[in-house]
Amino acid sequence: ASSRSEKEKAVNVQVLLRCRPFSEDELRNNAPQVVTCNEFQKEVAVSQTIAGKQFDRVFTFDKVFGPSAKQKDLYEQAITPIVNEVLEGFNCTIFAYGQTGTGKTYTMEGECRRAKNGPKGQLPLHAGVIPRAVKQIFDALECQHTEYSVKVTFLELYNEEITDLLAPEELSKIALEEKQKKQLPLMEDGKGGVLVRGLEEEIVTSADEIFSLLERGSSKRRTAETLLNKQSSRSHSLFSITIHIKEATPEGEELIKCGKLNLVDLAGSENISRSGAREGRAREAGEINKSLLTLGRVITALVEHLGHIPYRDSKLTRLLRDSLGGRTKTCIIATVSPSVHCLEETLSTLDYAHRAK
Ligand code: ADP
Ligand code: MG
Repeated sequence: ASSRSEKEKAVNVQVLLRCRPFSEDELRNNAPQVVTCNEFQKEVAVSQTIAGKQFDRVFTFDKVFGPSAKQKDLYEQAITPIVNEVLEGFNCTIFAYGQTGTGKTYTMEGECRRAKNGPKGQLPLHAGVIPRAVKQIFDALECQHTEYSVKVTFLELYNEEITDLLAPEELSKIALEEKQKKQLPLMEDGKGGVLVRGLEEEIVTSADEIFSLLERGSSKRRTAETLLNKQSSRSHSLFSITIHIKEATPEGEELIKCGKLNLVDLAGSENISRSGAREGRAREAGEINKSLLTLGRVITALVEHLGHIPYRDSKLTRLLRDSLGGRTKTCIIATVSPSVHCLEETLSTLDYAHRAK
């Protein structure tokens, strides 16, 4: 019995559901609402009308955030404890999963910088998980009076190819195309983890510095998109913060705690369901599926304590290997729209996210 409870403790996957408010377009078109959130019961109901009859499908999650939930609510109720684990020296990963346009980027990034005349040291109202986590980390480190270091990487995964979003070179079309040819290779580091060769690792000393990096990376992502006709809905972005904290034990020995937080804005989930493998898009769809589908399989294998965890089957899961499973915390934020027009994708998102529980 003791080994069972140990096993149960070892797997730590939390699945949250967030339903965004109606958009202006949806309101203008009087789109009927099909998703109802019950935050207290942690339930989401989806109503479908089939042959004139209404059916409700109800899904339960670890936490549910309805359209009126604010960025701060989600962060304080779900993310603060995860970042505390990172500060204790563990690796944790937070994913945003859902159809394009349902709020993955809003949830992960939102607005990062305070307005010019806004109060100092405070985040904007719409700041998402990344800026809030950065602030929590620096607030904690700065009052610990110990030596520490913070490193950040920011990369994009498109067609199973890695692009460094922090690389310093000029953003000319040629430089970019050159870069596209020279994708950064993944290598085993011999300690069970992997390294991305040539990936820029920025050492940062304040939250503001990270916000600049985030802006630089996000704008690079947008520029690359337009220049190379990419679609952000088809790429994954991975923002990682690694912290080292030097501590002295009561015996006077030196101890270094190392924790890593991975924040992942996944490709739109419609890329899974519409993989339909049509002509030129086939490879692209297949490759996007590969990371999303493998992630699903890895999480299922972790939750169900299967012996074999298929980390090696995609770049995303290889990159996150040291931060999924074992003594790590994983949080999936599934995002949906309330509107009838998204019904099919909403059901497939809820099914995917529910399987991860
Ligand atoms: P995704 O990254 O999943 O494609 P976005 O984050 O870009 O979706 O969100 C689409 C639009 O909806 C954006 O204009 C965003 O500001 C808005 N939005 C998403 N979620 C919320 C929310 N919870 N509250 C208010 N606006 C939201
Ligand atoms: Mg997005």
